[in-house]
Amino acid sequence: MKDLSRKIQGIKAAKVRQMYELSQGLDDVVSFVIGEPEFDTPKNIIDAAKKAMDNGETHYTPNAGILPLRVAVSKHFLEFDKVSYNPEDEIFITVGGMQGLSLSLLILTNPGDEVIVSDPCYTNYFGMIEMNNAVPVTVPVFEEEGFNFTEERLRKAITPKTKAIILNSPSNPTGAVASRDTMEMIARLAIEYDIYVIFDEVYKYLTYDEPFFNIARISGMKDRTIIIDSVSKSFAMTGWRVGYCLAPKPIVAQMQKIQEFMLSCVNTPAQYAAIEALTGPTDAYTSMNEQYKERRSIMVERINQIDKISCLMPKGAFYVFMNIKETGLTSDEFALKLLHEQHVVVSPGDCFGTMGEGYVRLSYASSVDNIHKGFDRIARFIQNLT
Ligand code: PLP
Repeated sequence: MKDLSRKIQGIKAAKVRQMYELSQGLDDVVSFVIGEPEFDTPKNIIDAAKKAMDNGETHYTPNAGILPLRVAVSKHFLEFDKVSYNPEDEIFITVGGMQGLSLSLLILTNPGDEVIVSDPCYTNYFGMIEMNNAVPVTVPVFEEEGFNFTEERLRKAITPKTKAIILNSPSNPTGAVASRDTMEMIARLAIEYDIYVIFDEVYKYLTYDEPFFNIARISGMKDRTIIIDSVSKSFAMTGWRVGYCLAPKPIVAQMQKIQEFMLSCVNTPAQYAAIEALTGPTDAYTSMNEQYKERRSIMVERINQIDKISCLMPKGAFYVFMNIKETGLTSDEFALKLLHEQHVVVSPGDCFGTMGEGYVRLSYASSVDNIHKGFDRIARFIQNLT
């Protein structure tokens, strides 16, 4: 048999999934591992998909997605993000944020182009960049600096091969939210060095302290920014697989062309469900956000009461990046030992880059009872270490 693609074989599998898989088959597991809401999709959204199917909306749609959804996205971005995009040719419907990211990299990069990401960052960026022939270049972000980019470190990472930077705010895994000042600094560098910004804002509804700010609002940035968003996290719709890219016209035109060869279009009833998510009543997600905020406080308080582990108060998303350096264990050892001894599953920090060593990521998209149960076990685990 001839070889499979060397490029694809050389790409490492995402480790977060591996931890999840290791936990399968164990009894009474408390999971803080997977980044998804445990809430079900609100009923009005489910009903919208059912209604679309009953109305015969079961056919292919345009490559860019149905126009009413693009119109809903456009209105939503004007209101929430304060940016204006034309639904006709500047908005593109994707299979979740994930396809938006991958498609953007495919369209922007030539082999060998460099794409800057923070370290730590969303673990899938590495595979996505490599899959699309580009090279990830990491810029370390530090806990003492709120896990934010600094100008000095960012400038150092830029070379003539830098094509794009992926900016994720609120951040997975750190919960950092980039302030307007940080965005302005990044925009200055992007313009100075002629770099695209892929702005991943899939957690934008989930900010608690720092207000959300879209980098495309800054003068000169709309032409070099691709916004990536989805209904997954904000509306508890991870399984529906609907997202959207907002980008300059020439980029959207390339997306339309490529989508025909990839997927043709996004699932049709799911696109109707997404319209309802963006235009329907907002009480379901307001209530989810309040619950996340409460869970965040509980988790952070429990962590900071236990010796040898600590964390910052995350400003957004639903993750805590917990410092475990004082335990003397690597993040892998910590995660595997905790899983085997206490049946609590967390993500080792090194999944998210080398700077993640010494940390584990916990998702608080989990019930309050689960958080307490998990932390009773984590407290026992740490006690047993000494
Ligand atoms: N971007 C970040 C930072 C994420 O954490 C995730 C999912 O975990 C995604 C994008 C992809 O989300 P979606 O479900 O919309 O594909």
